[in-house]
Amino acid sequence: MFDLNGKIALVTGGSRGIGRAVAEALAERGAHVVVGYVRGEDQAREVVAGIAARGGKAELVGFDVSDMTRAEEAVTGIAKRLGRLDILVANAGIAIDALLLRVKEEDIDQVFSVNVKGALGCARGAIKAMMRARYGRVIFLSSVVGETGNAGQAAYSASKAAIIGLSKTLAREYASRNVTVNAVAPGFIDTDMTRAISDAARAELLKGIPLGRVGSGADVAAAVVYLASDEAAYVTGQVLRVNGGMYA
Ligand code: NAD
Repeated sequence: MFDLNGKIALVTGGSRGIGRAVAEALAERGAHVVVGYVRGEDQAREVVAGIAARGGKAELVGFDVSDMTRAEEAVTGIAKRLGRLDILVANAGIAIDALLLRVKEEDIDQVFSVNVKGALGCARGAIKAMMRARYGRVIFLSSVVGETGNAGQAAYSASKAAIIGLSKTLAREYASRNVTVNAVAPGFIDTDMTRAISDAARAELLKGIPLGRVGSGADVAAAVVYLASDEAAYVTGQVLRVNGGMYA
């Protein structure tokens, strides 16, 4: 089950956090993983070296997903160079948190450029290659707040809700080409993105998680591996929630 030998995968934002855990988990199952990064080249090199040390296959490609045209070209280039692209995990994302009345327009633009246009650009590059191959798995990273909303995250939650709409639309557009498109919606996961949260806020958040703990990158990676696998061939347009029960 969940054998990814012979598959080529791209994970954007694979240098740390959830993306790193996903890159490692896909490689563990046998995929050749392209680790996308923007600034963390040293961290991305470590991820690739770690995968190679465990007998896996991985390489680095640096590009900024917020430049949509460049992102599409970069993904097209990866598919051309490696001959195919079976799995795209559009994971790169940022959060800039502020209440609606305080959020700056440039911050809204930045969040949407990375989280939404970045995902669109990468998907466009990937799906072109997948349509030709009549096989593909696209997995977007949404968030629990894209479904529930969260005070103080107007731009971020709107961007993550957009990802769900995008995912469901692409699922319908490319199903006839055997390309599945799904979103994973993590809850509260322990990464750089959430480490800045105060201890008091963290304790409050934990009260709302029935499983009683913060999630790990590995928890999310397991869901991504499933959606990337042949076993998930009949699953498309879905939102897979990995949130310890905080929203069902
Ligand atoms: P993180 O901040 O640890 O990592 C984000 C990754 O995205 C980094 O590798 C970063 O370099 C990359 N990135 C950021 N901007 C980029 C750009 N312009 N071009 C290319 N790469 C870029 O965050 P994380 O917690 O690992 O989050 C990963 C994804 O999961 C994000 O989409 C995030 O919104 C989503 N998510 C996270 C949580 C959580 O609790 N941590 C919850 C729900 C959803």
